[in-house]
Amino acid sequence: MSITATDVRAWIGGYATTIAEHRAELVKLDTAIGDADHGTNMDRGMRAAVEKLDALEGDDIGALLKAVGMAMVSKVGGAAGPLYGTLFLQMATAANGREELDLAGWADALEAGVKGVQARGKAEPEDKTMVDALLPAVAALRAAEADGAGLGDALRRSADAAEEGMKATIPLEARKGRASYLGPRSVGHQDPGATSTHLLLRVAAETFGD
Ligand code: ADP
Ligand code: MG
Repeated sequence: MSITATDVRAWIGGYATTIAEHRAELVKLDTAIGDADHGTNMDRGMRAAVEKLDALEGDDIGALLKAVGMAMVSKVGGAAGPLYGTLFLQMATAANGREELDLAGWADALEAGVKGVQARGKAEPEDKTMVDALLPAVAALRAAEADGAGLGDALRRSADAAEEGMKATIPLEARKGRASYLGPRSVGHQDPGATSTHLLLRVAAETFGD
């Protein structure tokens, strides 16, 4: 089983829908420890990404992911736009010229994406950011690969790991981004970016997994 360009289009479309459904929740989380725009930022970016994909023909997964990354960078300001932009653009580079990805190819792409996010945002584990959902997701994919797990199983394990990483941001004190200005007052709140990242990986598992 593998991930095709059609699957990638469905993933991005599904994520845009999911973000629209969770927009208010993401705004609420960002109201507690930020400036209340994460839901609207992601919604604007993903709507633009879907428009770009609809206008783009072809089955090069790299080209599709590049269009998504460019939409995030050009339509979304603040922290999340450039960071999600980098995630998709680095995934695009890793998947350049590929019309299909197997588990190893997907893990390589996501890992390249996370590395890009960390290079750009300088966030380490437990800084209370999207990285806290991304890194466990990559680790779970690698573990699943080593176990000889199937793609669907591996993707579910990576979404579950992202969910755990997201929940684990609640007791943390933010050390990066706007939430870090609150210092200890950021404790006790779930990070908005880790939440939108969990959704990204959950939709991947639902789309590619069966
Ligand atoms: P802004 O903070 O500019 O208002 P958003 O509200 O859209 O942007 O996104 C906030 C999210 O961005 C945070 O919840 C966090 O997960 C993520 N974030 C902020 N700074 C960083 C960083 N340096 N590295 C990784 N993620 C970050
Ligand atoms: Mg914000």
